[in-house]
Amino acid sequence: MIFEHDVVVVGAGLAGLRAAVEVAGHADVALISKVFPTRSHSGAAQGGIAAALGNEEPDSWEWHMFDTVKGSDFLADQDAAEVLARDAPRAVYELEHMGVPFNRNPKGLIAQRAFGGHTGELGRRSIKRACHAADRTGRVIMDTLYHEAVRKGIKVYPEFHLLELIHKEERVEGLAVYDLAQGDVHVFKTRAVVLATGGFGKVYKTTSNCFANTGDGVYLAYKAGVPLQDMEFVQFHPTGIRGLGVLISEAARGEGGVLRNGPGERFMEKYAPTLKDLAPRDMVSRAIAREVREGRGVGGLDYVHLDLTHLGKERLSEKLPEISSFVRIYLGLDPLKDLIPVEPTCHYMMGGIPTDLGGAVLGQSGRIFQGLYAAGECACVSVHGANRLGCNSLLDLVVFGRRTGKRVLEDLPRLEARPLPKGADESVRMGLDRIKERKKGIRPRALQKQMQEIMSACCAVYRNEAGLMEGLDSVRSLLAQLDEVVVENKGGRFNTDLTDCLELEYLLRLAEVILVSAGARKESRGAHFREDFPQRDDLSWLKHTLVQKNDQGPLVSYKPVTITRFQPEARVY
Ligand SMILES: Cc1cc2nc3c(=O)[nH]c(=O)nc-3n(C[C@H](O)[C@H](O)[C@H](O)COP(=O)(O)OP(=O)(O)OC[C@H]3O[C@@H](n4cnc5c(N)ncnc54)[C@H](O)[C@@H]3O)c2cc1C
Repeated sequence: MIFEHDVVVVGAGLAGLRAAVEVAGHADVALISKVFPTRSHSGAAQGGIAAALGNEEPDSWEWHMFDTVKGSDFLADQDAAEVLARDAPRAVYELEHMGVPFNRNPKGLIAQRAFGGHTGELGRRSIKRACHAADRTGRVIMDTLYHEAVRKGIKVYPEFHLLELIHKEERVEGLAVYDLAQGDVHVFKTRAVVLATGGFGKVYKTTSNCFANTGDGVYLAYKAGVPLQDMEFVQFHPTGIRGLGVLISEAARGEGGVLRNGPGERFMEKYAPTLKDLAPRDMVSRAIAREVREGRGVGGLDYVHLDLTHLGKERLSEKLPEISSFVRIYLGLDPLKDLIPVEPTCHYMMGGIPTDLGGAVLGQSGRIFQGLYAAGECACVSVHGANRLGCNSLLDLVVFGRRTGKRVLEDLPRLEARPLPKGADESVRMGLDRIKERKKGIRPRALQKQMQEIMSACCAVYRNEAGLMEGLDSVRSLLAQLDEVVVENKGGRFNTDLTDCLELEYLLRLAEVILVSAGARKESRGAHFREDFPQRDDLSWLKHTLVQKNDQGPLVSYKPVTITRFQPEARVY
């Protein structure tokens, strides 16, 4: 079938929903999502959304901006960080007015709690800036925004999987999608496309991300010629449940939880004397890895403990009910009495599709890719630079989701609908058939597992030249096997075997870009730590990485960082 809408938003997480809600009522907008919309990963966000409301103690947007920039190890573009911090209070009150049930403090105001890297007076002390609804913040914002989308009559196509961006040079014309329920290919004719397809934590073995986070939009933009930005910066969250990666939110430490090594020491005091357990994530993850390397993991093994036993029953059940239940369900432990085994888990991608402050995608040589926009974790504005602070992603989604919606409306009058190329759906359909026709070969999940192991071994918290080179060789040898991947399910409806195969390609291509970017950056900054280049080197490396698809392989180039208010300084916490 052929569908036609002025604007198509791909992805129904908070970024996509917020963009679509902005456009609705002004232009004909549709929302497509490969999972049922409210199943998007945004619904799993636990800890909160940052805004300098000052409800618990004095705060200001300048301090929030400073923390974001310092947290990013000075790689964030400061004009973008300023937009984020300045707009945060408005964005949170807007959510409140839409109906998000935030926790309240005794004064009846939106309650706020401490989070990693959020400080008062430019780094002097930890500050309470995270607005939250217990530890289900993403869930309640998701349900509220989805309700808003339904109320505004946005046409939703659930379980439609984007397969191709149809474009002529740097101008979008439409989309090809796979209808999971029917097993058929459809095309959308459209004037503007917003990519809000989320992250790709599934590149790694241990991750807090859901199964859908396979980087589809990021890869398809790359395939269409968009250079990807800062892909070497992969955030590992310090407290994933050991062996599973399921997240124990930083809110646990915001509420007073502490990390302990094997001998029971509160080791973060050594690494970050002021903020201790509430230092930024890159530093805490490295500290855990170092404790483990130096033999101070629990029982000499590869993990440490998160201690919540002193928080008391009331606080756990009021502020951290969800993670308390995870600990009971997944580990059979009682967080009131037992220490929780944790290890760093792949959590967030700082890099992605480069955009300007309005969400317009920057194609080759920084030119605007006409009709293409991106928002949320798949985009790189860049507000998070080399390391994102906790609670700044949910904020990014609603601030830049809204701005993207506004920008689309501004641009729409000059984006004429174009005729779709003939047979656009047919060539995509034939591509899928070719995959299904293979009789013998490797199962997609088997290759995916190998890739995840390689990436976790070669390109995680610590990196070095030899490991990165080895990782790149191994990933390329897996890429060479893509044509041999076999899909055993030859049916049409809900063929997850087939979508696994498509997602495997996206993940492998992005793994290659991560490795190439990480290999090229010969310094340590934020989440990218090179054992062979352990210092930050502003003289040579205070710049964004760009990687462009090329017939000879990914091509690396750089672009400057926008610095407005804060000059780079040593990152001491
Ligand atoms: C466990 C966990 C807890 C977190 N807690 C917090 C927190 O407390 N505070 C905070 O600020 N951040 C938190 N984060 C980070 C934050 O939740 C994510 O960065 C954010 O939700 C990403 O939102 P998004 O809208 O960009 O994409 P997502 O919410 O990931 O949604 C992606 C959407 O794209 C769709 N999609 C993808 N590919 C396709 C395709 N091919 N075709 C069609 N649709 C497609 C999916 O169906 C989905 O609807 C957390 C992350 C995790 C994993």
